[in-house]
Amino acid sequence: IQRSMRELLGRVERRALQAPVAMTTPVAMADCLVVGAGFAGAVVAERLASAGRKVLIVDRRSHIGGNAFDEHDAAGILIHRYGPHIFHTNSDEVLGYLSRFTAWRPYEHRVLAQVTAGLVPMPINRTTLRRVYGVDLRSEAEAEAFLKTLAEPVDRVVSAEDFVVTSVGRRLYEMFFRGYTRKQWGVDPSQLDRSVTARVPTRTSDDDRYFLDRHQCMPRHGYTRLFENMLDHDNITVLLGTQHNDLPKGRYAHMVYTGPVDDYFGRRFGPLPYRSLVFEHETLPVEFHQPVATINYPVEDTPYTRCTEFKHLTGQQHRWTSICRERSRADGDPYYPVPSAANRELFRRYEALADAETGVTFLGRLGTYRYMNMDQVVGQALATARKLLAPRTEAVAV
Ligand code: FAD
Ligand code: UDP
Repeated sequence: IQRSMRELLGRVERRALQAPVAMTTPVAMADCLVVGAGFAGAVVAERLASAGRKVLIVDRRSHIGGNAFDEHDAAGILIHRYGPHIFHTNSDEVLGYLSRFTAWRPYEHRVLAQVTAGLVPMPINRTTLRRVYGVDLRSEAEAEAFLKTLAEPVDRVVSAEDFVVTSVGRRLYEMFFRGYTRKQWGVDPSQLDRSVTARVPTRTSDDDRYFLDRHQCMPRHGYTRLFENMLDHDNITVLLGTQHNDLPKGRYAHMVYTGPVDDYFGRRFGPLPYRSLVFEHETLPVEFHQPVATINYPVEDTPYTRCTEFKHLTGQQHRWTSICRERSRADGDPYYPVPSAANRELFRRYEALADAETGVTFLGRLGTYRYMNMDQVVGQALATARKLLAPRTEAVAV
């Protein structure tokens, strides 16, 4: 009974947070307007509210949580509407902070890639090398020596292609990275920063975890519940379905803006490129669809990049299962800033405007045009909140 009461209350609270708030809300009473209720905005809102500031947080979507938003689908399976979100961090501070708002479920992410040799571990590890090359590598040292025979030297490792080719050679690059990256980013890896493929390092061990961070876990009751707990504060008003420029100007001592920085400035230097995605969600009448949470499809003929089965991430028991395939495209909601030299140059011009804009702080993956994971965004937001609250320095705003 207690559990169902808690669930019912949870649902009522959730509805309260998701219901569009009437425009009669006393918006003028806030010390700070926070634009965007994803990790960047929600963390700053919570920190400022806990320090006694009145905060109005708005989001143009009909829900909180930004891209980390999760929900139960029609079959009752917890899914991530905007693609799989796996929490991992080396930061004790970030984990400690988020732990105030959620309990955790231990979870280590594993990914297989569908290639001609079958389903093999990704990132490339000793097992992958054995399966693709049919070699018997008995130790890490042997795997390392074998990789050296494959690696192609590159004078300066600049691009996403260079990074992979110097580590594992051209054959594995073409098998695992070239097609996937072209599909995901719409350009050849030679046109992207090395930082893109450096996210997926090569291993000489049999360790088949996708991440090696010290802390790897999922919010026990999902991300949306975490956000609800974070924003459940007397000093915070949440206004959904609202763009920042729908609001009267000049009513707040300060604004923290976590939307796309080029949008804020009317794209006056031209649009910053973002990559968008289509999430194809499907529920299947089987208990499990695939052996691990995510299968990557590096071949260009397959139109999607990866397929994720949520029950592996959440640990939910259900006789059916829900999956999500991701197809990348240029147009649509901005999900990924595109790391390249040209885009960095363009961003610098917007950044100069942002630095000169008084009374506004730009934050988050879109506000600072950086390909950041959730923990990095939380870290950035915690540091920003500290600056905003610091006793009178130049940075003081709120
Ligand atoms: P967002 O979550 O994008 O939030 C910004 C919010 O601002 C949005 O809700 C938007 O609606 C709102 N907004 C924008 N403009 C306006 C405006 N003008 N007015 C009002 N509201 C506005 N990270 C991980 O650590 N692990 C993962 O496994 C992982 N997987 C990912 C998978 C995918 C497919 C994607 C796209 C990202 C993934 N990430 C992952 C990254 C993670 O989503 C981000 O680090 C994090 O969500 C960024 O938070 P944010 O607040 O900066 O931005
Ligand atoms: N990548 C790839 N093949 C893979 C996995 C990743 O080519 O099987 C490249 C691709 O360019 C991708 C990048 O490495 O965008 C980073 O991968 P990650 O899994 O970190 O992407 P994210 O989860 O951020 O979408």
